Amino acid sequence: MQQSKPRDTTLDLSVVVPVYNERENLVFLEEAIENALARTDFKYEIIFVDDGSLDDSANIILSLRKQNSKIRLIQFSSNSGQTSAFAAGFSATKGNYVATLDADLQNDPLDIPKLLEKIENFDVVCGWRFKRNDTWIKRFSSKIANKVRNFVSNEDIEDTGCSLKVFRKECLESLKLFNGMHRFFPTLLKIEGYKVTQVKVGHNARKFGSSNYNIRNRLFTSLIDLVAVRWMQKRKLNYKIKEEI
Ligand code: UDP
Ligand code: MG
Repeated sequence: MQQSKPRDTTLDLSVVVPVYNERENLVFLEEAIENALARTDFKYEIIFVDDGSLDDSANIILSLRKQNSKIRLIQFSSNSGQTSAFAAGFSATKGNYVATLDADLQNDPLDIPKLLEKIENFDVVCGWRFKRNDTWIKRFSSKIANKVRNFVSNEDIEDTGCSLKVFRKECLESLKLFNGMHRFFPTLLKIEGYKVTQVKVGHNARKFGSSNYNIRNRLFTSLIDLVAVRWMQKRKLNYKIKEEI
């Protein structure tokens, strides 16, 4: 459940990372995030959202936190999906900017400063995995899904499935999220009137663990979600007040 609480923005940046059974990746990921951000001037935190992992991911995060006080952990009692993990992370953030990325080392944290450079003139900067290191079936299905989504929703986002994104914190406060909607962040935020751009980012093959998505639970579900998003675009309230007395 998202809770409303007074906004605490004492940091520049919150990095939100959904985690589901990523035990082998977490130590390397923390090191990579630190490598990318420690040399910048940003005051930041890293929020790992453990989405009910069945392995010892949560314990590994807790032991990393002993060495690094910038780390926070939100632990779900059971697997609730990536959108829920993002939502819980977003409501906990203390940063004025929020960066999101996957926990499986497929995204490169060194791209976060690159995305932040662009945020000055935008509200959301989306990563675009230009040279994607995934199986051909995943690349192919994702290409089709992006084309269909862009056509139906009249969009030009090349790679909506890329978790690597940077948001101004205030944009996220207006989002009402539903399962699966993390794939539509750019469009949902455009509906709210925010400015979105995209930047090419790196992409690594998954070395440890396995992907949580297949054609059935990604492609077909997101086609149904697309209908909902199209409906939201069409039904968006659109009025201009001429006079109010
Ligand atoms: N993830 C999650 N909850 C889920 C499924 C995935 O938090 O129910 C996390 C996962 O640990 C990873 C990210 O979401 O950090 C993306 O998942 P995955 O790598 O399986 O997706 P893919 O890269 O294959 O699209
Ligand atoms: Mg992945």
